[in-house]
Amino acid sequence: MKTLKIAIQKSGRLNEKSVEILKTCGLSFENYKSSLISSVTNFPLEILFLRDDDIPEYVQDGIADLGIVGENVIEETGADVHYLQKLGFGKCTLKIAVPATESYTSIEELNGKAIATSYPVILDNFLKSKGVEAQIRVISGSVEIGPGLGLSDAICDIVSTGGTLKNNGLKPFADVMRSEAVLIANKTIYDAPEVAELLQRIRSVLKAKSNKYVVLNVERYNLEKVVALLPGVKSPTIVPLFEENWVAVHSVIAEEDFWEKINSLKAAGAEGILVLPIEKIIV
Ligand code: ATP
Ligand code: MG
Repeated sequence: MKTLKIAIQKSGRLNEKSVEILKTCGLSFENYKSSLISSVTNFPLEILFLRDDDIPEYVQDGIADLGIVGENVIEETGADVHYLQKLGFGKCTLKIAVPATESYTSIEELNGKAIATSYPVILDNFLKSKGVEAQIRVISGSVEIGPGLGLSDAICDIVSTGGTLKNNGLKPFADVMRSEAVLIANKTIYDAPEVAELLQRIRSVLKAKSNKYVVLNVERYNLEKVVALLPGVKSPTIVPLFEENWVAVHSVIAEEDFWEKINSLKAAGAEGILVLPIEKIIV
């Protein structure tokens, strides 16, 4: 098997989750300390720890075969890579924000204004798509202070909670792009068998994360009502309890309809409900 190289962020918002997903896939390796490369001991894989800005181009050029990086960074660098899988973390939105005292109502009002950003490419594409001509001022960080310093009329930056905006007297005005961490591959290697093996493992971890294992007790006469609420991976497992006419039902439910399901299950007669995390689901 060819030894693949996967590039992940060295330190920052995506580092911990990137390491976690690879470890949950059963890969064993040393976390980044001072060396930029770590070898996986039980899979033909090397991990490169890089600045996130460099990851898309390294993957495009084949220096790394795979990478984990935010969609925003891929779009900004314009790298030509193959998208393999969204990873469900590092979610954020790139937004245009304006001083809280302003009362802009439409995007056109940004015509002729100056906008500070670290994402000039994404912002330029967005403004073009809206037919707006504004001046883009590129700053590499702390973009939020732009309007306060008189450097710009607005900013375009990543917003997750909006706290930083508020603290700097700004308010969100328009959404430019949503982003999350994705697994990308070099275009010449994305369908190689080694990649497929790793991708299968990553997908089984993601699937497990979005589901819960549920165990509950129910009296037999309520069983059908309860089972109707629990489709399970195939169908639920029913185990008789020592107490006559009672059974335990084991099943898998999606995290997203968890609370709704739990309430319906209780109403249908389920008792002693246990909810457990799942490590992997292999399908
Ligand atoms: P590096 O040193 O690797 O260049 P960085 O400072 O550019 O790191 P981070 O702040 O660690 O980047 O963010 C990495 C990625 O995490 C972003 O590009 C984005 O995709 C995602 N992200 C998610 N939420 C946020 C947020 N609230 N603020 C900034 N980035 C976020
Ligand atoms: Mg960066």
